[in-house]
Amino acid sequence: MTDGETSRNFITDIIDAHNESDRFEGRVHTRFPPEPNGYLHIGHAKSICLNFGLAAQYGGLCNLRFDDTNPAKEEQEYIDAITEDVRWLGYDWDDRLFFASDYFDELYEMALELIRIGRAYVDELSPDAIREYRGTLTEAGRESPYRNRPIDENLALFEKMRAGEFKEGEAVLRAKIDMANGNINLRDPVMYRILDAAHPRTGDKWKIYPMYDFAHGQSDSIEGITHSICTLEYEDHRPLYDWYLDNIEIFHPQQIEFARLNLSHTVLSKRKLIRLVREGFVSGWDDPRMPTISGLRRRGYTPEAIREFCDDIGVGKVKGVVALHKLEYHLRQHLNKSVDRVMAVINPLKVIIENYPDDLVEEMEAVNNPEDASAGTRAVPFSKVLYIERDDFMEAPPRKFYRLAPGREVRLRYAYFITCTDVIKDENGEILELRCTYDPATRGGSAPDGRRVKSTLHWVSARHAIKAEARLYDNLFTVENPEGDRERDFTAFINHDSLSIVDPIYVEPHLRGAQPGGRYQFERLAYFVLDEDSTADKLVFNRTVTLRDQWRKVRNKAGKKPRKRRRKKAAPR
Ligand code: ATP
Ligand code: MG
Repeated sequence: MTDGETSRNFITDIIDAHNESDRFEGRVHTRFPPEPNGYLHIGHAKSICLNFGLAAQYGGLCNLRFDDTNPAKEEQEYIDAITEDVRWLGYDWDDRLFFASDYFDELYEMALELIRIGRAYVDELSPDAIREYRGTLTEAGRESPYRNRPIDENLALFEKMRAGEFKEGEAVLRAKIDMANGNINLRDPVMYRILDAAHPRTGDKWKIYPMYDFAHGQSDSIEGITHSICTLEYEDHRPLYDWYLDNIEIFHPQQIEFARLNLSHTVLSKRKLIRLVREGFVSGWDDPRMPTISGLRRRGYTPEAIREFCDDIGVGKVKGVVALHKLEYHLRQHLNKSVDRVMAVINPLKVIIENYPDDLVEEMEAVNNPEDASAGTRAVPFSKVLYIERDDFMEAPPRKFYRLAPGREVRLRYAYFITCTDVIKDENGEILELRCTYDPATRGGSAPDGRRVKSTLHWVSARHAIKAEARLYDNLFTVENPEGDRERDFTAFINHDSLSIVDPIYVEPHLRGAQPGGRYQFERLAYFVLDEDSTADKLVFNRTVTLRDQWRKVRNKAGKKPRKRRRKKAAPR
């Protein structure tokens, strides 16, 4: 797949059929229609990639349209965040940024038209009574006593609604369809309700606001959308979508439904994400543990990784849950290709190279990205006192531990072979530092006599290293499906160890002046991104993702033996 394209799926089949029958004169025009009542999440990314991707694939267009029909919940902050996120994902709507509220006048005219042809009426039943009259899945609804008022009376009352002469809940405008229809959506659905709220864009102009179902299809039609793609919950709304367009007699787009993305170990409903923010489980919408686009961005995700993921999971009609490690797989794939390596030590152990000159500093040449020769090299200072990772040393190593141990020689990456000669401890037996010697003949990391070592460690020069803070993130929830327990609220499954802060860590001086958003692989540790909380004096790194899939490791432990071992046995020698 190339960027901007979408793979084949049932929707491309539908579009191809339309093109063959010439339903839309070969046009493909989609839209992404967020409601500005929260931040976008990875599920929205699927819809964004699909809508913009299809338009690109067919040489068509995709609009960004805010579905801002409910002023009670919508805010400018969300509008700004959403536009930033769609752009960051790599999509461009040119001058086609629209708002459903742009069409309030036209929608009002369409409502009048439906009243005039006898297909809409003002109902003064209370909201509770309307609900009761609607009936159930097994029982037909009942007609409102106001259903058959004369057209002129409806026109006058609707005008009174618009003028603010009714209070919230006193009157609604309903479509006159069929109270006995098997599809409850067709039982005289509400088209307009009174809301006493100022709208972020239209201010106090309107006292009445169109319902989603009345606004959506007509907005699609006004914009000349050909394929109106939405999630499966709207399948039962399609007859209503079609009814409005047919009865108002305007251009008729095709609604198509697909299965929404669900992701393991997280929640994607905006209502729940808002709770995580408001109840303080996270630091905000862009907390790096949030599945929001802004959270993923702050975590260090790349737009490319998210787009590849969306392409990989495909588009279908079957509901399911995608494992989080699939998203992380695409993240690792892209980071591996694209980011520079640096050396950093998170849990430091001091190493003193006893035979290295006290004041000497050598610049070692390090490769920035072994996957990308154009990334070049950098100089890393080496000196007598270093830090290595505490985990890379064991005083009494078990059989398979190949890293540093007393009397053993290992390679320091890009530098020398060193041998551990002494272990210095405090009175409690805690290891304070190691004494080592180096072999000057191994500069660059190989021995002229051809002798080999079994492991290569990363390191930083103590004198040159910069102290920084590392924020190590883990899944926000402890279970795969936090919404799966009927008895317990999803917040019962919050992982309280999802953030651990390590301060200080030591990073190589190359990172001085790094910019927030800069992504790195800390060699042998994980991918990190410089957080916006960083200041001139203090770098803060977020751990984006570990180098290997921890989850798989756990599974392998419990499951089959590692493959390598079996192969060895099978090989006849
Ligand atoms: P609400 O429940 O408040 O309607 P929503 O998640 O549907 O929330 P919208 O802002 O209406 O939010 O969504 C914008 C678009 O993104 C819609 O077309 C919707 O179908 C799509 N979308 C939302 N969530 C997902 C998801 N998990 N997977 C795929 N598409 C989604
Ligand atoms: Mg929605």
